[in-house]
Amino acid sequence: SAQQSDQHQLPRYVRVNTLMTTVEDVMDCMKRDGFTYLGQAVRLDNLNLKGKNFVRDLHLPELLAFSPKTDFHDHFLYKAGHIILQDKASCLPAHLLNPPPGSHVLDACAAPGNKTSHLAAIMKNKGRLFAFDLDAKRLATMSTLLLRAGVTCHQLANQDFLKVDPDCPQYKDVEYILLDPSCSGSGMMCLRDNAPADEEKEEARLASLASFQLRCLNHGLRFPRLKRLVYSTCSIHRQENEEVIAACLKENPGFRLVRLLPQWPERGLEPLSQCLRASVTTTLTHGFFVALLEKHKDAERVKN
Ligand code: SAM
Repeated sequence: SAQQSDQHQLPRYVRVNTLMTTVEDVMDCMKRDGFTYLGQAVRLDNLNLKGKNFVRDLHLPELLAFSPKTDFHDHFLYKAGHIILQDKASCLPAHLLNPPPGSHVLDACAAPGNKTSHLAAIMKNKGRLFAFDLDAKRLATMSTLLLRAGVTCHQLANQDFLKVDPDCPQYKDVEYILLDPSCSGSGMMCLRDNAPADEEKEEARLASLASFQLRCLNHGLRFPRLKRLVYSTCSIHRQENEEVIAACLKENPGFRLVRLLPQWPERGLEPLSQCLRASVTTTLTHGFFVALLEKHKDAERVKN
């Protein structure tokens, strides 16, 4: 189908796991494997690659892009945890949250853990990374992936994030939260071929997802020392993205949106242009949404 061929047009992105290796070492290894390095991309168009060519990404420092037909699932660098096969859009949340080494960070809906391992790399494995997921099976997979990726600063819990007590002493220094809750997945090209359910059912499903997403957001904002929370979905629906953020801002006047990557070409739907969207056609990624909420310097002074 057209959408399946779209998927094959997407570049293959490789995130270098800087806990295990360096971008330079991975690039050298790829060159020895017969790949040709074309330099760092300067325009999105440079990510449209052919054959064995590859580039460094223009937005994310640890990301390499290869041609659509490349597959590294059997590569020893992948099996050794040196590279992570992760779409570019899904690398945005941890990159934008950017928690410093030593900080306390919470990943609310974490399995299978690609964003958790990215956070750990940004933190240089220093600090504490609390990760939760409701699904025990996904959490078990995650545990294996984190081990392979050399992540050591994490603490996994098979727990409903909505039942995690923000006032529990062990979370008193949590300043950064990554929230990537369950969503419709409508941005994933591979899922979009599924015959759509009838419209009424689909609307009800989106409404129920949106209400869960808003509850998670509101819950995240209750952590007493929180500075920044990044919210992401792989959905293209306004109901799960801008509408959830708008409702949350209304209920939490102590928080504001941070304007993200001014050079990024696809923005949140008006009026939330501070947020980012991603898509196959505009950003050469899966469909995605990211918002970054920041606590006002002086939240008390803000009147609703
Ligand atoms: N962040 C993950 C990554 O980058 O690999 C992907 C997360 S996936 C979009 C959403 C996850 O939320 C699922 O693994 C699901 O089991 C989990 N989940 C759903 N409801 C939850 C809840 N109430 N508390 C914690 N996790 C939940």
